[in-house]
Amino acid sequence: AKKAGKNRQFWFEPSMEYELRFRNELESGIRRGIAKGEFVPYYEQQIDLDTGKLVGFEMLARWHSPDLGTVNPDIFIPVAEDIGVIAQLSESLIAQTIEDAKQWHPSLTISVNISPVQLRDPWFSQKLLKILVQHNFPPSRLEIEITESCLHDDIGLVRTMISSLRNQGMRISLDDFGTGYSSLAQLRSLPFDRLKIDRSFIREVHKSQASSKLVDAIVSMGDGLDMPITAEGIESGEILAALKRVGRLKGQGYHYGRPEPAEEVTKRLAEASLL
Ligand code: C2E
Ligand code: CA
Ligand code: CA
Ligand code: CA
Repeated sequence: AKKAGKNRQFWFEPSMEYELRFRNELESGIRRGIAKGEFVPYYEQQIDLDTGKLVGFEMLARWHSPDLGTVNPDIFIPVAEDIGVIAQLSESLIAQTIEDAKQWHPSLTISVNISPVQLRDPWFSQKLLKILVQHNFPPSRLEIEITESCLHDDIGLVRTMISSLRNQGMRISLDDFGTGYSSLAQLRSLPFDRLKIDRSFIREVHKSQASSKLVDAIVSMGDGLDMPITAEGIESGEILAALKRVGRLKGQGYHYGRPEPAEEVTKRLAEASLL
């Protein structure tokens, strides 16, 4: 917060100087971190709630910064977008993810989050395909998550990009569904394979009838559009029980454990004979 106070005569306040210096250090730290391989994929389990079976993982980026410790993506993704290194960072994370996933059972899918900046690159689907081919990984195991904020962009370009990714065999999910401004008309005209309901709608599903009816309605709508639904942010057994009553959902959340690095996942899968 930068309040105009007594110090207005100064070019900037000490706190602002601090923020600027922090920002500069963040930017150079990110550049250095990419070069040094400090960014790593973590994985969150995705479960078929009807069967309780593991169906795949969402990759969530983490930065092991020597100065700041483990940093979450809400801090570094927006900066990486601003300074023009998001594509490079994302491609390196996806390559690592593919190498990790190749050790796991081929029925397990991998979801990756893609920035709107990347989606605007006309060569994006070609770049992705190249990585898949280089690493000999079937596109059908890869799910691309894009957020509703992508739909603010030229919708024709977004549609073309989604179609070309799908033609190559990847699947596309609309992430954080319900928090943005996607209209029903847009939903109908864009060929998403799945909708992910934002966790703000899931949080109260066990204690609010309005919430559970809303989730129910979204599942019905998804049926009509041929877009199955994933619920994110399942934090407790109570929430899980309420969602099981709705039915036909996939889900993920802290109830199943925190996102963890590949070694932990591999260990867990070995125990469950799922390698
Ligand atoms: P998201 O895609 O909506 O991912 C879900 C976020 O919620 C993750 O935070 C996850 O750790 C957290 N979460 C999962 N289960 C629960 C739960 O039960 N309760 C609560 N309160 N939170 C839960 P994370 O890992 O900090 O990621 C934040 C966002 O950063 C992600 O939101 C995604 O939009 C973005 N992101 C992550 N990795 C990448 C990446 O490689 N590229 C891009 N462009 N964005 C990424
Ligand atoms: Ca996501
Ligand atoms: Ca989400
Ligand atoms: Ca989110």
